[in-house]
Amino acid sequence: MTEEDWLRGRDPDGMLDRVEERFTARRWRLLACAAVRRRWEVIPAGPGRDALAFAEDHADDLPADAVEAWLDRLAAAVGPAADAARAAMLDLVRGADPAAAEQNTPVLTRPNQVAPAFPLFQAASRYAAQAVDASARHVELITDAVRALFGPPGRASVLRAANRAEEAEAARRYANGQANTALKLKHMADEAADRAATAKNKRLEESKAVEAVRKIDEGGGADRAADDDERIDREVRRAVARFLHELAGNPFGDYRFEPGWRTAAVLDLARTIDAERAFDRLPILADALLDADCDAEPVLRHLRGTEAHAKDKPAHARGCWVLDRILRPDDPLFAAAAKPASAKRPRRRGGPS
Ligand SMILES: [Zn+2]
Repeated sequence: MTEEDWLRGRDPDGMLDRVEERFTARRWRLLACAAVRRRWEVIPAGPGRDALAFAEDHADDLPADAVEAWLDRLAAAVGPAADAARAAMLDLVRGADPAAAEQNTPVLTRPNQVAPAFPLFQAASRYAAQAVDASARHVELITDAVRALFGPPGRASVLRAANRAEEAEAARRYANGQANTALKLKHMADEAADRAATAKNKRLEESKAVEAVRKIDEGGGADRAADDDERIDREVRRAVARFLHELAGNPFGDYRFEPGWRTAAVLDLARTIDAERAFDRLPILADALLDADCDAEPVLRHLRGTEAHAKDKPAHARGCWVLDRILRPDDPLFAAAAKPASAKRPRRRGGPS
């Protein structure tokens, strides 16, 4: 791993190798938390979100009894939350008759389901049922992601949390996609039923319906599942690399930070931003540092969001390396920089060349 590799962020495994010796339990936990918080909108309000906030606030030291209590709360909450997600989706797609997808009884007994439109009604029900199932599954997946935050801090928990969070996001996206398709099919089915009522050639109308369903199925079939897996993998890697940039900065660069830059104003601001997760105020912290004559470019650039390698918009998280540089100067991450400026430290113990 070279500095260029690190900054490019394409090899999260190699990046983890590079910094793991200097990662405390806290930093591992916060890395996992950041990967889950990235999908905040997928976490149902309630114990899942509360547990994530708790894990962040107690990243230094998660008491064993608290871990157990949270795992119990999460276990108790997942069923009702999945039911609620299922019910909300059911409301949305009720018109497409999701229950019909599970019954083997012919649906043709209903008056508006003229036979030639039947394939469309049937497909609408099928997509609606898939949407309902997936919306419950996303809750189970994101709960699993949150659960991973309470596992032993380390690489495995980070990857599990990041994977589950991305899978949950994919499941929710899938649920919404299937719901849209279900409603579209229902609309097409209603129109086809109206047309078929007066059509001379009912067989032609039916073959049109079959063809329409086939086209839609093609767009959402096995290929899409494979694309989703690839996308999930890509997103996990991206999230891990991105938050390694956030939590570890650049281990090839310098973490230089003069004690004189830690003025009362700087400390105050850094503490508030950290406690309140008010990362939008980081540019103000950059100003305070400039007032203290700070000239460390990596620090200032990180706070202003003008790092050359950062392609995505800034994604600050609890454990932001600059905030920690200010508030936790003894963190082992900065070990090399804490030594007197005797130029570069030798390569880390036992590290590969
Ligand atoms: Zn940051």
